[in-house]
Amino acid sequence: MTTAAEAAREELGGTFEGQLVGPDDSSYDDECALFNAMIDKKPALVACCAGTKDVAAMIAFARAHDLPLAVRGGGHNGGGLGSVDDGVVADLSHLNSVTVDADAQTARVGGGSTWNEVDAATHPHGLAVPCGIISTTGVGGLTLGGGIGHLTRSCGLTIDNLLSAQVVLADGQVVTASADENTELFWAIRGGGGNFGVVTEFEFRAHPVTDVVGGPTFWAIEDTEEVLAAYREFLPTLERNASGFFAWHTVPPGPPFPEELHMRLVCGIVWCVVGSDEEAEKAMAPMLAVGKPLMHGAGRAPLPGLNSAFDGLYCPGDQWYWRADFVNEIADEAMTLNREWNANMPTWKSGSHMYPIDGAAHDVGPNDTPWAYRDATWAQVIIGVDPDPANAPALRDWAVGYWEAVHPYSAGGAYVNFMMDEGQERVQATYGANYDRLAKAKAEYDPDNVFRVNQNIKPA
Ligand SMILES: Cc1cc2nc3c(=O)[nH]c(=O)nc-3n(C[C@H](O)[C@H](O)[C@H](O)COP(=O)(O)OP(=O)(O)OC[C@H]3O[C@@H](n4cnc5c(N)ncnc54)[C@H](O)[C@@H]3O)c2cc1C
Repeated sequence: MTTAAEAAREELGGTFEGQLVGPDDSSYDDECALFNAMIDKKPALVACCAGTKDVAAMIAFARAHDLPLAVRGGGHNGGGLGSVDDGVVADLSHLNSVTVDADAQTARVGGGSTWNEVDAATHPHGLAVPCGIISTTGVGGLTLGGGIGHLTRSCGLTIDNLLSAQVVLADGQVVTASADENTELFWAIRGGGGNFGVVTEFEFRAHPVTDVVGGPTFWAIEDTEEVLAAYREFLPTLERNASGFFAWHTVPPGPPFPEELHMRLVCGIVWCVVGSDEEAEKAMAPMLAVGKPLMHGAGRAPLPGLNSAFDGLYCPGDQWYWRADFVNEIADEAMTLNREWNANMPTWKSGSHMYPIDGAAHDVGPNDTPWAYRDATWAQVIIGVDPDPANAPALRDWAVGYWEAVHPYSAGGAYVNFMMDEGQERVQATYGANYDRLAKAKAEYDPDNVFRVNQNIKPA
């Protein structure tokens, strides 16, 4: 029997400019690896695309052979949606060029780039595109799902800074989506994930941000209720040039953390202030006066430094299981539940974050993009993480149990990029009133649901 890799080589060999990798090739295991080692998918073919033409060819090949198609940007998706068993993976990692127009304050970014590649290109120009908090994450998946990070309060979600995209559609057409062209497609891709096509290039607005004051303040986990009660009142009063996400963690056992805190369970705030040292001190002061902080480690750093500060802690190859919800208000009961579940986290790399999604992200209406929860204040994520595969069931049980306990206090849906493969009901809850419009756009752009290895929107 001819394998998919053999068929692809025979049919596309002369024209495909990238690399075609099948299970018999020595690089197959490396090409299959995902960030989350809990997911071990075995595709029939990994097609490392060299350009837009290769992407279109792989879409046509998968369709002609009736093979499921996965599109991989940075490979960071928690549920492993950048790969598929027995199907075709269109790997975009070679589509990673980044071009900056410093005068226009824009950046053109290849669809398979990672955020550290974007930072490396924009920072020398004194510019930044709002991204996530781990720099090895892919631009493709993060952007198409929304994009939350240190600059969300000051500059909006990543999608709020998307100016246009080059998209390869299910029928192979290459189109531009922007506020002026293919406007419904442009609406749909700003939160609707990879459901509508493969983005081979993004054009972003960049902001004049170079240095920030960033880093953590920690309190003992036992102080959760006192600190969180103060924080929920504090955040709405905070100027939008400042942000601080709330976190429960174990202090990592190494520098730069003081030895006496190593492996101590804490709650804390991770700061990012775009402004002078004086502005930062003023912004953080009300929280520093709460209880007795164990450590205050915020200092001035280049933004790419803060964006990559946790890369070493969260490296590829760990086991990950996560659950999430949007949160409008933090209930007293939820504070205690968060403390109790985090006091019993299964491994030291596990924990939970509550990312602020107010400020500039609230300037955009709930129907202006598919990202429906524009009135929520936080996106909470619960993460079970550990290098040892033997701990996978414990990570999963803890994350699910914790989520079930706090979910009744949430806004209902979750940020789509913080979900595992959790079924259609959760996808619909995420998009709320925007789901029907997304389903109509899906019927127009991908009626056969070729792009279905994702948080799937069924064609109307
Ligand atoms: C350690 C870690 C930290 C994270 N931190 C943040 C954070 O701070 N903020 C935040 O918002 N999110 C964060 N995330 C979540 C992240 O946004 C999602 O995991 C996202 O799916 C990753 O995108 P990717 O391109 O790396 O993933 P992939 O696994 O490659 O792809 C994810 C999905 O996007 C689709 N896709 C990817 N690229 C394209 C493209 N060019 N065209 C069409 N479809 C595409 C894929 O088909 C797949 O369905 C984090 C994830 C991890 C693992």
